[in-house]
Amino acid sequence: MRLLIVEDEERLARNLAAMFESSGYAVDLAFDGERAERLLCDERYDAAILDLGLPKIDGVTVLRRCRSASNAVPILVLSARGSWHEKVEAIDSGADDFVVKPFQIEEVMARVRALIRRAAGQLQSELRHGALTLDPRTAKVTLGGAPMRLTSHEYRVLAYLMHHRDRVVSQIELTEHIYAQDFERDSNTVEVFIGRLRRKLGATSIETVRGLGYRMGAP
Ligand code: CA
Repeated sequence: MRLLIVEDEERLARNLAAMFESSGYAVDLAFDGERAERLLCDERYDAAILDLGLPKIDGVTVLRRCRSASNAVPILVLSARGSWHEKVEAIDSGADDFVVKPFQIEEVMARVRALIRRAAGQLQSELRHGALTLDPRTAKVTLGGAPMRLTSHEYRVLAYLMHHRDRVVSQIELTEHIYAQDFERDSNTVEVFIGRLRRKLGATSIETVRGLGYRMGAP
């Protein structure tokens, strides 16, 4: 899962990024509204965290422009003030959720997981597919109850496929959702990760749909 964090307090932004990265997310950072807007246009995210008070372009404007460009990415808004006016304005401008500063990072993480889960049409915190479970709260995977050791990129590939296990995911889509922007991408590496996941989870765990991409194998 790939996340955009837009926050001009750099220390806070980097703390959030570190927490999300250690939970298996690919994270991009923007410290002003202009870069946020460009990244939202050009990149594919599973969720975004957007501070309202930002240099260059304010958060509500970023939000409105994003929605008027038909970008449906789930957005959690952060605000320094807890006024109900501001919440109403943000939600009416297209925010999906709202957290007032100062906050506990755990609460922000739980809300982001919920947004991603809902956007993917999942109801449970823990994702299950046959004997396989993936818990986005801990970034842990088990097979038949036994914990599996996955690298961070193997986990990202599996997490994306598990969130979208009712459909085929193309190699390009997978590539867009497992790497942060500054990472040198090579779509061939997706094949390598899939091969390693099959060795660890079983040859039929992930199916190749010729010409289209990948999907979780029949459980
Ligand atoms: Ca701010």
